Amino acid sequence: MLKQLRQYIKSFSLWDLLIGMKLTGRYFFKGKITIQYPEEKTPASPRFRGIHALRRYPNGEERCIACKLCEAVCPALAITIEAAPRADGSRRTTLYEIDLFKCVYCGFCEESCPVDSIVLTRNHDYHFENRGENILTKNKLLAIGDKYEAQIAADRAEDERYR
Ligand code: SF4
Ligand code: SF4
Repeated sequence: MLKQLRQYIKSFSLWDLLIGMKLTGRYFFKGKITIQYPEEKTPASPRFRGIHALRRYPNGEERCIACKLCEAVCPALAITIEAAPRADGSRRTTLYEIDLFKCVYCGFCEESCPVDSIVLTRNHDYHFENRGENILTKNKLLAIGDKYEAQIAADRAEDERYR
């Protein structure tokens, strides 16, 4: 009987609503943790593993020496490389592709590269609109590298500080 009476009082006083409002009130004046993405972005680690890029040396020469270590270490078999020697005898890739549908963003390719060529950038807001765009070709990878080189170099320098 007493339990029932208490239940009636709680129902008529909107007790549960007041409990909920108490929680809302507690957070109402606290600092907001949401941001207006994509205009605002949360801080990203220099080790963030986003879309891939192939880097060049400052003189414009591509860093990749077609050793295929990244292809061998990739657990998802996402990397395909074909290579051939140039006229000057240096070895370079004739085809370098990454299938982003297979990639698991483990970063092993980046870790294995002896010349800091293939890297995972901190850029994560990309999308595909057409079939086949999941394949990152060598030209696309180099273009991403050119676009984000300053950021990539800064991230790698910061990363080195913690090694
Ligand atoms: S990040 Fe991992 S899965 Fe993706 S291409 Fe590199 S090695 Fe392969
Ligand atoms: S990206 Fe690096 S690991 Fe991969 S083939 Fe080129 S030099 Fe070798």
